Amino acid sequence: MLELFRPLRYLWLPFLLIIGYYYSAPLIHQLESPWNQLLPWLPSLLSLLILLLAWRFHSHRAAIAAALLMLVQQWQLSSFASVAEWQHGLLALIPANLALLAFSKERSLLSLSAAFTTMIILLQAGAFWWLYHYQLPILQHWLQWQPESIDLLPFQLPYPFTVMLVQLLAGLAVFFNWLKDQQLFNSYLLFTLIASSYLICTPLSGAEQALIISLALLMWLLLLFSHSHDLAYLDDLTGLPGRRALNQRLQNLGRRHCIAMTDIDHFKRFNDTYGHDVGDQVLKLVASKLSRVRMGTAYRYGGEEFCIVFAGKRVEQALPALEELRTSIEAAQMRLRSDQRPDDNQKGKKMRGNNSPQADSVSVTISIGVAERQPRLDTLKEADKALYEAKATGRNCVVSA
Ligand code: GH3
Ligand code: MG
Ligand code: MG
Repeated sequence: MLELFRPLRYLWLPFLLIIGYYYSAPLIHQLESPWNQLLPWLPSLLSLLILLLAWRFHSHRAAIAAALLMLVQQWQLSSFASVAEWQHGLLALIPANLALLAFSKERSLLSLSAAFTTMIILLQAGAFWWLYHYQLPILQHWLQWQPESIDLLPFQLPYPFTVMLVQLLAGLAVFFNWLKDQQLFNSYLLFTLIASSYLICTPLSGAEQALIISLALLMWLLLLFSHSHDLAYLDDLTGLPGRRALNQRLQNLGRRHCIAMTDIDHFKRFNDTYGHDVGDQVLKLVASKLSRVRMGTAYRYGGEEFCIVFAGKRVEQALPALEELRTSIEAAQMRLRSDQRPDDNQKGKKMRGNNSPQADSVSVTISIGVAERQPRLDTLKEADKALYEAKATGRNCVVSA
């Protein structure tokens, strides 16, 4: 049942912002000076912050999404706001560019790829401006083009066919990208597409426009903050919380807790046989098993060593969970691509051991040492000693201090 709601887990902020808008929109007209004068400046201020953070955290996509939102605001403040061609043009081009962002890789703000994307957007704006001023009939012809069969529809399209087609395709691209890979960025992109289309289509007061754009920009700003948090606390390779997060957790643990140290067995040999890339894949696989350990939280301690914290638990409670973890990792098979198989067959056999049923799949085992907190003892050190014992006892086992 919970799985059913998983796709929605990154959408709570956009939903919260929509509710926020619903309740705050009637109030903004009652804003007194100087707040009512500050509101139109809020989007610029937020964009500036986004630009700074995006530059700092090498995230050109958030900056471009913010720039597209600002473009909508500038259009609404300009004399083109009431011109149908501009409205139709933006209604097609803003979603199309947001869709392009969905498929571009995150790059630094000063990278060539970011400059290229910016250039493309500026070129579009320039080309549109030129067409509008010097080739209006051509522009109108493009915008108004539609297949004859459209006349058969029992209703009239609210916007030109070409505009609606581009918008539909861009919307579907962003939507399916979000379905495929539900992450904050894709969720926010989807919301930005909806918000910007709503802004372009709906006649709103300046204050309402500024409010919607500010809320959407706030969302991108929070994304960058969460990005900076992830950079500091999450391990890049495995996605598990890293050493810094562990240190903070250890400082805030209650009196009763257990700590387990785990280490992959013969991992150096594994790397030597299959190469570092396969080693990385295995680390990710082990980490994903660790992240699902019952009752505990796993952290990447460093290299191929992980630490699991069982807050409020006794060692008798942690042991069965650790045993489950050990067996689940032992049983997990990772398929190798043909180019990843070792050249030396003997080497491969040695690594795979006797418990590997398929020649082109690999598995690893882990050793675990666990300790319960005792007064005047460093639990982490005790767990490490137990791990050492587990290695000495033959590996692939759990030993408690
Ligand atoms: P033992 O069973 O005694 O733990 O043997 P081991 O070979 O695992 O021991 P050791 O701790 O000396 O080796 C750790 C190896 O883990 C060294 C390094 O090649 C590998 N390693 C550490 N971090 C990474 C990583 O991020 N990616 C990959 N692929 N390998 C890593
Ligand atoms: Mg080690
Ligand atoms: Mg090891």
